[in-house]
This record gives sequence, C-alpha cells and structure tokens, in this order.
Amino acid sequence: MEEILSFLAFYILPVVIISALSFWRFCRSVEFDVTQAFQFSDRVFAHAGEGGCYGILKKLAKKARVNTPALIHMEGHALVTYAVRKDRSVVVVGKNDLELFNRIEMEAALAHELGHILNGHHVKAMLWHSVLLAIYFCAFVTFFALLLPALVADIFGRGPFFSDLLFLLRITVILTLLWVGLELVFRFYLRRREFQADEKWAELVVDPQKVIQALRRFEVLVLPRKKNFAQLAWKFLVFWVTRAADTHPSDEKRIARLEKLAREKANT
Ligand SMILES: [Zn+2]
Repeated sequence: MEEILSFLAFYILPVVIISALSFWRFCRSVEFDVTQAFQFSDRVFAHAGEGGCYGILKKLAKKARVNTPALIHMEGHALVTYAVRKDRSVVVVGKNDLELFNRIEMEAALAHELGHILNGHHVKAMLWHSVLLAIYFCAFVTFFALLLPALVADIFGRGPFFSDLLFLLRITVILTLLWVGLELVFRFYLRRREFQADEKWAELVVDPQKVIQALRRFEVLVLPRKKNFAQLAWKFLVFWVTRAADTHPSDEKRIARLEKLAREKANT
C-alpha cells in the first residue's frame, strides 16, 4: 500500500507540469483574444474585394447571431480559429489566402471557421489535449524513469530501487493502452467536428452547392507547406503532434456529406 502511494506521488510532477502548461495555454488564448485581437477588428483588407474579408465575416457572424470574431492577418497561409467563448473569438487569415481565394471561397472558409466557433470546438480540443498529454507523460515517465532504470539495475545485479518490476510493467502497459485508445477517440472526434463545422457552414452560406464548389477548389489548391524535419521529429517524440495535417477528413468525404445535406435540404 505504501509502495503504491509513493508510486502515485511520483506522478505529481508530470501532472503538475501538464496542468501548468494547459493553464498557460488557456491564459494565452484568452489574452490573445482580449488584448491583441480587437485592435485589428475594424481593419478592412484592401485587396480582399468589396467590403473586404472582415465585411464577409461580419455578415456571416450576424447571420449566426454571434459577435463578429476579431480578424488577424498573418504572413503566409493560415486559417485558424481561436474561441474561448462564442462571443470572444479570433479568426486568423493568412495574407496569401487573401490573394488566393475569391469571394465565394473566402466566405466558405470563414463560414467553416465560424462553424468551429459555434460548436465550441476550441475549448473542447484544449481539454482533450491536456488529458491526453498528461496520460502520455505519465506513461513516458513510468517507462523511462522507473521501469528502465529498475531493469538495468536488475540486469547488473544491483538491488532495484523499485522492487516490483511486474507492477511497473503493468502500469506502463495500462497507461500506454489508455493513451492510444483515447488518442484514437480524439482523432475520431476531430474528424467528426470538421463535419459539424461543415454543416454549420452550409447552414450559413445557405446554398450547399456553393460550399461544394469552394471545397472542389480547395482540393486543387496545393498550399505550400514548410517542412522542418528536425523540428517535426522532435515534436513527434515529445508531443506526437503530427495531427495538424490529418485533422480534416478528405475533401471527397466532406463533399459527399455536403451533397447528402444538399439533397436533404432540397427534399424538405
Ligand atoms: Zn476545420
């Protein structure tokens, strides 16, 4: 019993680190909303056509009955949403996307992002992420800081500082399985929420055909992606964050869903 208690105490540090990290990320996104974002809100982008990108966003937000998200302009390609609350959100648009998308496509892209905001996806994903990260780190720590040294000590015939090797092994396996299982559920959820965002999008843009047309265009657009393999490898090892690329289901699947939606709409 005492052994188990001291064992559990071992997890306090990783859990504290993860909690602090999550809290910091949460604060950062709140701060991001409040202090920076609204400075940019009323900016109309000169080369984004009549009324500008912000004008389109404003119209969509009005239709969705939420406060217009603040719009942030960034170098390169970016279409991301941060929303801690529905009425306090930020949409980040890359400068290159402004040049690439026509009005319909911009409307489509923004409506999709608004769909994420309306569904509260950002906060949910942040919570998921924290839990997953905590379990991952516990498994990591159990293996590298407890099991491995104990094994090595055992091999070299020294008295292991933690006597029950089988117990450690079991804990490592359980944590790993738990992490992998939840990770799969999370990925499934990430894909589902893209469909949810698409549904809201079709609702906001009214004509699902328009949405499908925009998706077909996105499919052809090949956005250049910078790849830094050293960074990628490091991230994969520590945070397994390769998921940005596969959060969105294939365009074909999304189009099929939207076509079904359009048919349903036509029938009612
Ligand atoms: Zn999305």
